[in-house]
Amino acid sequence: MKKLGFGLMRLPITEAGNPTSINQKLVNKMVDYYLDKGFTYFDTGYPYHQGMSEVAARKAIVERHPRESFTITDKMPTFFVTKSEDYQRFFDEQLERCGVTYFDYYLLHTLGVKNYADTLKYNGFEFMKKLKEEGKAKHIGFSYHDKAELLDRILTEHPEMEYVQLQINYIDWDNESIESRKCYEVATKHKKSVIVMEPVKGGALANVAEGADKLFKTYNPDQSTTSWAVRFAASLENVFMVLSGMSDYEQVVDNLSYMQDIVPLNDEEREIIKKATAIINSSIAIPCTTCQYCVDGCPKKIPIPKYFSLYNNQKQFGIVPAHMNYYMNLTQDSGKASDCINCKQCEQHCPQHIDIVEELKEVSRVFDV
Ligand code: SF4
Ligand code: SF4
Repeated sequence: MKKLGFGLMRLPITEAGNPTSINQKLVNKMVDYYLDKGFTYFDTGYPYHQGMSEVAARKAIVERHPRESFTITDKMPTFFVTKSEDYQRFFDEQLERCGVTYFDYYLLHTLGVKNYADTLKYNGFEFMKKLKEEGKAKHIGFSYHDKAELLDRILTEHPEMEYVQLQINYIDWDNESIESRKCYEVATKHKKSVIVMEPVKGGALANVAEGADKLFKTYNPDQSTTSWAVRFAASLENVFMVLSGMSDYEQVVDNLSYMQDIVPLNDEEREIIKKATAIINSSIAIPCTTCQYCVDGCPKKIPIPKYFSLYNNQKQFGIVPAHMNYYMNLTQDSGKASDCINCKQCEQHCPQHIDIVEELKEVSRVFDV
C-alpha cells in the first residue's frame, strides 16, 4: 500500500466559516485523482466537518468506486461516550453516514489520560475486539495525544491494538509536551505500526520562517516546503501511513508527486531539517530550554516547561486544536497554569531568567478556557 493517506478533515468548503459546506464536486475530483494514481487509504472521523466528512466520504468514494479499490478508516469519538451503549450507537451511525458495512481500520479517537480512563470504564476495548471478531472492523487501533509513558502503559495493557496514530512532524519530534519521538519509540518497542497525523502540523509547516524556507529551496528549488515535512514522517521505518489533510486539488497533485515513489530523506536533507528546525524555534515566544530546574519545587506541581512548549507552539503556528487535548491531558495529574500561587520558587532556579509567573498567566489565558 502506498504510504500517503487522504485525510478528510480539512476538505474544501464553499462558505467561509461553515465547515459543513463541503465542496463535493471538488472533493470528488481530488478523490478520483488520488485513486487513479494508485493510492487507496482514506481517513475520516465522527466530528470532522461537524459530521459531514463521513457523508462526503460516502458520496465521493463509497458511492463512486468499488469497495475493494479503497480502504477507509473511521474513529470512535471516545470524548462523546458517556455510557457503554454509546459505542454501538456511534458505530452504527458511522456505518450509515459512510455507506459501508465495515471499516478497514477503526480507531479509538484521541486516547489520553482522560479518554483512556473513560474507555476502560465503559468497556471500549471489549467493544473494539467484538468489532474485529465480527469483521466490522478489519483492523483496530487508536489515535493518541499524550505522554509516551501512558502510551507504554496502554500498549502493555492492550496488546490487541494493532495500530497507533501519532502526531509526528519535525517540529514536534523533540517537543517537550508532544513527545513525538518518544511516542514513536514506544510504539516501535511494542511492534505496533504507526500512522502519522499532522505531518505538516495543520498546514503550518507549509509556510515556515524565511531562513528555513531558503535552506529548503537552496537544496532543491523544485521540492515544495510541504514535501520536506511529509517526507520526514514517511522516512521513519515503522511508519505505515502518513496522513495529509488535503484541502485543494493542487495539494493532492503536489503530495502525490513525491509520494508516488517515496525517496527517504538522505543524511544531507536530515541536516537541513535540523537547521530549519533551529531557525523556526528561534522565533519562539518564551525562551525556555526545558532544563526542568524549575519543576521540582513547585507546590502546585505545574509542569512549567511543558506548558511553555505548548504555548510556544500555539504562538508560532496559530491555533492547533490538538494542543488543547495535550493541555487537558497534562492537567489530569498536574496543576493547571491558573493554579500558580505566585510563590516564585521556580523563578529562583531558572537559568534563562524567565518571568515564569507572568508567562503562566499568558498560558492560562490561552489554555484555561
Ligand atoms: S510561582 Fe507558581 S509555578 Fe512557580 S513554583 Fe510557585 S506555584 Fe509553581
Ligand atoms: S528553569 Fe526556566 S528554562 Fe528551565 S525549564 Fe524552567 S522555565 Fe524553562
